[in-house]
Amino acid sequence: MRALVWYRSDLRTADNTALHHACRAADEGVVALFVISPGEWEAHDLAPCRVDFMLRTLQELSAGLAALNIPLLIEEAALPGDVPGVVARAAARHGCGAVYANREYEVNERRRDAAVSLLLAADGRAVHLFTDQIAIEPGEVRTGEGRFFTVFTPFKRAWITHLLETRGGVRVLPAPNKQNNTGCTPAQVPGFVPGFVSPIPAERWPAGERHAQQRLRAFIAERGRAYKQSRDFPGEPGTSQLSPYLAVGAISPRQCFAAAAEANGDSPDPYRLGNEGLLCWISELIWREFYVHILAGFPRVCMNRPFQPRTERIRWSDNRDHLEAWKRGRTGVPIVDAAMQQLLTTGWMHNRLRMISAMFLTKNLFIDWREGERFFMRHLVDGFFASNNGGWQWSASTGTDAAPYFRIFNPVSQSRRFDASGTFIRGHIPALAGLDDESIHAPWELSPLARARLTYPEPLVDLSRSRAAAIEAFAAIRD
Ligand SMILES: Cc1cc2nc3c(=O)[nH]c(=O)nc-3n(C[C@H](O)[C@H](O)[C@H](O)COP(=O)(O)OP(=O)(O)OC[C@H]3O[C@@H](n4cnc5c(N)ncnc54)[C@H](O)[C@@H]3O)c2cc1C
Repeated sequence: MRALVWYRSDLRTADNTALHHACRAADEGVVALFVISPGEWEAHDLAPCRVDFMLRTLQELSAGLAALNIPLLIEEAALPGDVPGVVARAAARHGCGAVYANREYEVNERRRDAAVSLLLAADGRAVHLFTDQIAIEPGEVRTGEGRFFTVFTPFKRAWITHLLETRGGVRVLPAPNKQNNTGCTPAQVPGFVPGFVSPIPAERWPAGERHAQQRLRAFIAERGRAYKQSRDFPGEPGTSQLSPYLAVGAISPRQCFAAAAEANGDSPDPYRLGNEGLLCWISELIWREFYVHILAGFPRVCMNRPFQPRTERIRWSDNRDHLEAWKRGRTGVPIVDAAMQQLLTTGWMHNRLRMISAMFLTKNLFIDWREGERFFMRHLVDGFFASNNGGWQWSASTGTDAAPYFRIFNPVSQSRRFDASGTFIRGHIPALAGLDDESIHAPWELSPLARARLTYPEPLVDLSRSRAAAIEAFAAIRD
């Protein structure tokens, strides 16, 4: 039997469940396929920098697969609906008896995979789907009443217990063996796809699984133990910046969990006991699992709907000028504007800043979280639907386990606390670089003369009044 491995968001050779099983089952070789699908990417608001990162990762993947005698084939599907036919025809053309792929959980992706299964079954070919994007399949961990969890802390507790009881911990797969030669030639991976030209220099995000592994090792060795203290300060390199690699699957969550657990080696239970920095990082990886679990259990979040239906009654502001100013980093609130500049110039934003800028948009400007969700997705190199949607709904108080509507971050207090010396702001807003450590967080407090010298906008809204109005609007829709 010859197997076809259909790559989607799992662009690596090591610890790839679909590839592992295909290599074990095939005795007439394995071919790999990636479908260039601009219509699908556009429908999902994929950022040009993320597409560019994905293509560069594919180039690395192609070389890694070639070393295993597995050619990477590239097909194109102009429209999302064309994908199933493209995959089925590729399987037939290359004489593959079965297609192996790792599951994706968004509604459209599940429909697409169901369509592929039907088409292939009609042709006498099988489709095998595996859990790989996350460590534990959504729905495997449930509440005592058999429901999906909707609150993180009990989910995390049950997730770790289940992991230890069923698998004894996270296990990565052995490296795949070299396969029989199929005689197929690998395709050339395109350098770019029209409509997705990245404004971010490629050097900012070196691609490929080897680089991802180096980044993981360096993070665990050099910063993992201090993660709990340093992770909230955007001016410090305190986090792993592995999110783009996880989003395209250049690294697996199992590899991340396993590396952190191993570094916590002396602990009898490395997911709950041991170094607090490593445990905190493990916990963040479980947030990622949680949001995928929410997306699978509550598909309405995939359909532009809030997790909490009552919040559909909120009448958001339609002030387009405010929205545009937020997008361009011209709100007049330095920490928010610096955050948006970080996004626009690097394709990535620090987690603390994602929360601050999302809360500012949804609570102070009172603009619909879906506007922010889409804008982030269109600019993030690590755009990942489950976490982006989860993060936005958390910030907007419309989601599961969300920030209570009355607990609204004050962006100035956050700025003073997490960027006390203003280093981060100065690095992203040259117009404010000359201000002292105190006034850089709230330049509107300067004397009128000093303010007039600044080429920096006045704040769009009064922070206290807009905060009070948001609380009132949410209180009015309380059940
Ligand atoms: C409004 C908003 C939007 C977001 N959009 C995305 C997104 O599109 N893609 C994305 O990967 N993350 C998103 N996040 C979560 C988080 O901000 C990023 O995962 C994190 O900043 C990535 O940086 P890092 O790799 O250095 O993380 P680390 O701090 O090193 O954490 C390790 C990994 O854990 C996961 N993780 C960390 N924090 C979270 C979290 N709060 N929720 C879910 N997973 C987490 C990520 O996979 C991350 O790479 C969003 C958060 C918010 C508040």
